[in-house]
Amino acid sequence: MSESLFSALIRSLDIVEPGDLVIYHGSIPARHGFHIATPCVCPHCLLAGEYGSEDLRYHLIDPWDETARPLRCVRPESITLCASACD
Ligand SMILES: [Zn+2]
Repeated sequence: MSESLFSALIRSLDIVEPGDLVIYHGSIPARHGFHIATPCVCPHCLLAGEYGSEDLRYHLIDPWDETARPLRCVRPESITLCASACD
């Protein structure tokens, strides 16, 4: 297995833990960049979880701008864990 394929495989297994630094690259270009990820606990996501949905969403906080509105209900595909992407 080549090094790059191995790295890509490991990266695809990344699990975002609450408080992890991630890079957002989703549908709002103005907000692309670093954020702190926590599980989204809005009423919609909590209800989806209660009904057994595996569709985990994230709540993203800008650690450098406390006045920025957090991003809610962000799909896992829209973020990359910084620990693997930032080295
Ligand atoms: Zn939500």
